[in-house]
Amino acid sequence: MKKYKLICRSCGYELTSDGYRCPQCGGILRTVYELSDRERLRKAILDAKSFWDYIDFFPVEEGTEIISLGEGNTPLTEASILADRLGIKKLLLKNEGCNPSGTFKDRCMSISFTKARELHAKGVVIGSAGNAGAAAAAYGARSGLPCNVMLPSDSLDTRKALIQHYGARLIPVEGSVTDCIDLISEVYEEFGWHNVTTAAAYNPFQADAEKAIAYEMAKAMDLKVPDWIIVPIGGGGILTGIYQGYKDLLELGLIDHLPRMIGAQEAGCAPLVNAFREGRDPKDIERVKDPHGVAAAIADAFPLDGETALRAIYESKGLAETAEDQEILEAQSELGRYEGIFAETASAATVAVLKKLLKDGRISPEESVACIISGNGVKELPMLAEGMSFPPSVKNDVDALRSRLSSES
Ligand SMILES: [Zn+2]
Repeated sequence: MKKYKLICRSCGYELTSDGYRCPQCGGILRTVYELSDRERLRKAILDAKSFWDYIDFFPVEEGTEIISLGEGNTPLTEASILADRLGIKKLLLKNEGCNPSGTFKDRCMSISFTKARELHAKGVVIGSAGNAGAAAAAYGARSGLPCNVMLPSDSLDTRKALIQHYGARLIPVEGSVTDCIDLISEVYEEFGWHNVTTAAAYNPFQADAEKAIAYEMAKAMDLKVPDWIIVPIGGGGILTGIYQGYKDLLELGLIDHLPRMIGAQEAGCAPLVNAFREGRDPKDIERVKDPHGVAAAIADAFPLDGETALRAIYESKGLAETAEDQEILEAQSELGRYEGIFAETASAATVAVLKKLLKDGRISPEESVACIISGNGVKELPMLAEGMSFPPSVKNDVDALRSRLSSES
């Protein structure tokens, strides 16, 4: 018997073999796991040392050849200096920037490529704002599967360069990441590709990858749960996945309550926050017409996993909030200066949103908060350097050096 079922979210049909969409109605699929063997599964979580040690909770059978670059098992650090500055008792940072290509998307790609190989794919395609694209390119190289990456043509050259560095075919598209994903859905079957776009609507398998973030966090906190978890929202899959991970832990009796989930978006592209503010049904999130702002990695005009993310936010009595460009850049700088973390702007949005919620009292200084630093800032280095000025050089002369040092002391 398989450890998971693939069930259609729309019509409830249960697939008899693996597939990417419902063969009956074309609906989105979700995986459902059998967790009744509680003692064994609890032990599996507690004993796990690496990402793939959680295989009981992934849609991959034992014995399958795993495509891995050593993803997961990222640090959860207590940010005590930043916490003091912000005036909060406990602030934790889950640093997903430590993954092989620098983002949590590596977890998704490890599962996607393992699954694509298991299902005898001839090649894969992905639509991405740059992070999932670079991750896919890296795992494409590792797996030997040809990888096609479509991303917005106005993306930073560093994002494009990484994708080519890993040997993938880069296809810049004149449009947003949502446009890239729409285009792919028209052609991927025609070209015989597996679609590894990180949204359950296209790839239900990768959606289980982020559950392990929750398992790792719970273990790092001796099975305690932070009051709030703030997650950047592009497509929304990461918030959905982390929440599902905590639900698994609760069902297995490893924790005694769930955290409250907060979605962070940037002001220029906030379809999920807009829906939250208006109290809309999760099915009624509206596409943003002109997505803009500094945090390109979360500039999804429409969050493809927004429905499940907003449902998790409502269910956990959580929140959704935006931050302006300037607030995001300031938070990014503080993460570097006070905690030694180079977060990409999308990830810094979590800290920017935290500051806002502390200020207006929706989060109390006595509570504990974990921010998900979903990716490191290396792909945005040119942007960082552009925003800085540097001191003039000093002559190669010890007196000149002494003079400079004393003038700045
Ligand atoms: Zn269906």
